[in-house]
Amino acid sequence: ATPMSIMVGVGRGAQAGVLIKNAEALERMEKIDTLVIDKTGTLTEGKPKVVAIASAEGFDEAQVLRLAASVERGSEHPLAAAIVAAATERNLELAPVRGFDAPAGKGVIGMVERQRLALGNAKFLAELNIDTAPVAAKAEEMRQDGATAIFLAVNGKPAGVIAIADPVKPTTPDALKALAAEGIRVVMLTGDNRTTALAVAKRLGIAEVEAEVLPDQKSAVVEKLTREGRVVAMAGDGVNDAPALAAAQVGIAMGTGSDVAIESAGITLLKGDLTGIVKARALSAAVMSNIR
Ligand code: ADP
Ligand code: MG
Repeated sequence: ATPMSIMVGVGRGAQAGVLIKNAEALERMEKIDTLVIDKTGTLTEGKPKVVAIASAEGFDEAQVLRLAASVERGSEHPLAAAIVAAATERNLELAPVRGFDAPAGKGVIGMVERQRLALGNAKFLAELNIDTAPVAAKAEEMRQDGATAIFLAVNGKPAGVIAIADPVKPTTPDALKALAAEGIRVVMLTGDNRTTALAVAKRLGIAEVEAEVLPDQKSAVVEKLTREGRVVAMAGDGVNDAPALAAAQVGIAMGTGSDVAIESAGITLLKGDLTGIVKARALSAAVMSNIR
């Protein structure tokens, strides 16, 4: 495309909240046939809320929430923010945490009031040799509703499970409909549990789901599709999405997301509105037809 037509395209994008960083991204966008898309913070608001709490024998809901929030204060994850917000709303007094650690895509651990706390998904607790069976049925119910189930263990024993739900962005269904109409193959890519991911995907009409993908494995999904001959765009908001954004033909970051994601992407959707992907494709087609 000519420098002039690219400048016009970039300008029109900016007016629509679609920030195009380079000519390459604009030129490639119309050739995309596959969109790999992160769930939390991309398809959804990324502002999850605690919607239910279940406690195991010997604990009550307030205790579960207070202990969970005490550890999560150390984490910057949106799920952590939801748990801390719910505890604050109920005026629960949080305790200090020592020896805090947050393995990416898994959960958090720390010492609170001389108790060893672990909080995270079922896989993470299994890795720590904690048997979540006493609250497993509750967790499964939560997931079938599309919520993320976060387990709390105290001194190696399950204490409860917290359901956190993240509403879909109001603009997401329209964006997906338009992309489907253009024949784009959409693949949801998430670190979240499979049942939760499938529940959200079903609601959105997304047929392909790659769930329980650890942060360092996300780019492998993009690379595999590329090897299969697909022309892949990747959309995501998180630090954990950055390598996948960089691996794609076009990386699309949410302006509402992390700086690392924005730096790794050729296009940024200022307000995180996914209809911007459709607009970027239209701009790309317009710019490229100018030179043909
Ligand atoms: P996504 O790919 O959907 O943006 P992440 O890779 O950030 O999600 O996280 C994947 C999963 O790891 C979460 O669904 C959750 O089960 C667990 N997890 C990550 N961070 C935390 C945390 N701070 N507290 C509890 N669980 C967490
Ligand atoms: Mg995310």
